[in-house]
Order: sequence, then C-alpha cells, then structure tokens
Amino acid sequence: MDTPPDRVIKNRPILRGRLKGNQLRKLIGLLDMLYTPAELAEAVGFTRRQVYRAYLHLGCPHVKDETAHIFINGHEFYGWYQATYRKQKLGEEEVYCVSCKCAVPLINPIAMQKNNYHYWSAICPNCHRKLARAITNKRIND
Ligand SMILES: [Zn+2]
Repeated sequence: MDTPPDRVIKNRPILRGRLKGNQLRKLIGLLDMLYTPAELAEAVGFTRRQVYRAYLHLGCPHVKDETAHIFINGHEFYGWYQATYRKQKLGEEEVYCVSCKCAVPLINPIAMQKNNYHYWSAICPNCHRKLARAITNKRIND
C-alpha cells in the first residue's frame, strides 16, 4: 500500500503514477502512434506494471485488439496525463505539506524572516509538521 490513511484532506492530487522531470521530458516526445504497454513503459522510463496498475486503472485511453492486447496512443496518453495529473494550485490560505503531500489550510500563521526570505510559519493540521509558505509581497522590505 502506498496510500497513507485517510485524513482531513481535500483535493488530494493523484500520487500513483506521477512522473518525474526526466520522465516528463520523454512523455512530451511520445509519437502519434500506438504503443504496447511495454513500449510505452520503455519510452518514458517506468515499468510495464505501472501502465496496468496506475494508468489503465485510472482510465487512460487505450484500444484493445481482437486478441485483447492493449495499445496506447502516445499523443493521447500525453494529453490524458496532463489532464489527470494537474499541477496543484495553492489557495491564498493554503500551504503545501510535504509529509501529507497535499495542500492544507494555513492555520494561525506567524510571519517569519530568514535573511531576505519572508515566510509564514504554521503547523500542519494533519501531521503537525512545521510548514513554511513564502510571503510574496515585496513591500515588506520597505
Ligand atoms: Zn501534514
């Protein structure tokens, strides 16, 4: 099991099957042609098993031939990946917790400063980890 227990979490992004920088660059290079799961896995740099366990499970577009072999179009997969694994936008009153791997509400933040870095310091309501969110307002330096 790679999913942590349920907590008070909203908009949890999909973690299973999420790609890293190097894989994302290869994803962009996929062609408008049909790949077998093994070919797709090799082209992007994940395991064939991930295709079945993550992507097909999540509804990735694919075709089946008469012998039930699965084929995935490279362009369609790229489009589907982007729509499915959207970048998470933080709300004004939210902060990203790396332990919970999701946005959590910024509760009772305290303005802090380290050299020129101004940030809000708060505690994660789920795991009680110390969180920091940059304060972007530049006027704070005046
Ligand atoms: Zn947390």
